[in-house]
Amino acid sequence: MTHHDDLAPATRAVALGRPAREPGAPVSTPVTFTSTYVADGEVAYARTSNPTWEALEEVLGSLEGGSALTFASGMGAVAAVVALVPVGGVVVAPRHVYNGTTGLLDEREAAGALTVRRVEAEDVDAIVEACAGADLLLLESPTNPMMELTDVPAVVRGLRERYADARPVVAVDNTFATPLAQQPLAWGADVVIHSATKYLAGHSDVLLGATVVADGRADLRERLRTHRSLHGAIPGPMEAWLVLRGVRTLHLRLERAQASAQVLAGRLAEHPAVTRVRYPGFGGMLSVEVVGRAEGAERVCGATRLWTHSTSLGGVESQIERRRRHPLEVATVPEDLVRLSVGVEDVEDLWADLRPALDTA
Ligand SMILES: *Cc1c(COP(=O)(O)O)cnc(C)c1O
Repeated sequence: MTHHDDLAPATRAVALGRPAREPGAPVSTPVTFTSTYVADGEVAYARTSNPTWEALEEVLGSLEGGSALTFASGMGAVAAVVALVPVGGVVVAPRHVYNGTTGLLDEREAAGALTVRRVEAEDVDAIVEACAGADLLLLESPTNPMMELTDVPAVVRGLRERYADARPVVAVDNTFATPLAQQPLAWGADVVIHSATKYLAGHSDVLLGATVVADGRADLRERLRTHRSLHGAIPGPMEAWLVLRGVRTLHLRLERAQASAQVLAGRLAEHPAVTRVRYPGFGGMLSVEVVGRAEGAERVCGATRLWTHSTSLGGVESQIERRRRHPLEVATVPEDLVRLSVGVEDVEDLWADLRPALDTA
């Protein structure tokens, strides 16, 4: 399958997923509102596919280097990947991942559907070791909200050497990094997962998810597509269109967010109220630990005026949140950890708002 590798990712984000260039054709992809199609075509019913999804899937597939499917939300995509595991199967996952993913794995385990083996995201040897007899390795890098990195190429190499064809399906949630920073399929992963709600959509106005499957794994793509159709976690066409519109500027938004995050990471490390900065050096997400325990962290979040105190991330507006306020967040996430999603505002305005807020910790 062609991924238009001759074009830079920024160009693909803008140019793909558009109607064929014919005189009089619309330049922008229309939103196709229909529940069904005239008989004897490729698709009979709109729970199977929709032209607006397909336009977005073309762009996402190209950016990740595989074949994309869109879902109703990031969790819809995560659930579809977890459903690849046979009843009684084994999932290996890092201790710190998105808390919805933790919740889903716990819920499936409690239902007797599968067993979960928890590993530390940065411990390649332990991850490979834990994959003996496993069906799915569900990675997330950087992890939400601890910002740990997994050396995915080393893990894939280790799995191939150790288990050959008996290795588990390797899935990587690429929501934090985005395909502009890393492409796990090129590292040998089988499936990439996205909460497109975040950076891909980029405007905090829509929920949508996606899976992108490696070209050599058409079998997995078929199973995920069947799952989507039968479980019904499908995006609305308007939602798909909003994400498609958002993706057009992904590179510009991320460039600004990353430049500002790098500046802020340096300044935060110097602030007396900050005890630790967790920033992997790229992207627009960082976490800090502050003095004053949970109460101090909550005061900081409540004291900003420009940064929005809200959950979620990846929007044009900067967001701030203490993660342990959510009951699903695991207890090894420090209670004084504040997660920052850097938006595209002026960095000096962001700092001028954040610095005095930190003084309240
Ligand atoms: C938000 C998020 C999800 C879940 O996505 P939704 O679109 O909210 O369902 C999954 N993984 C990560 C890393 C996330 O940040």
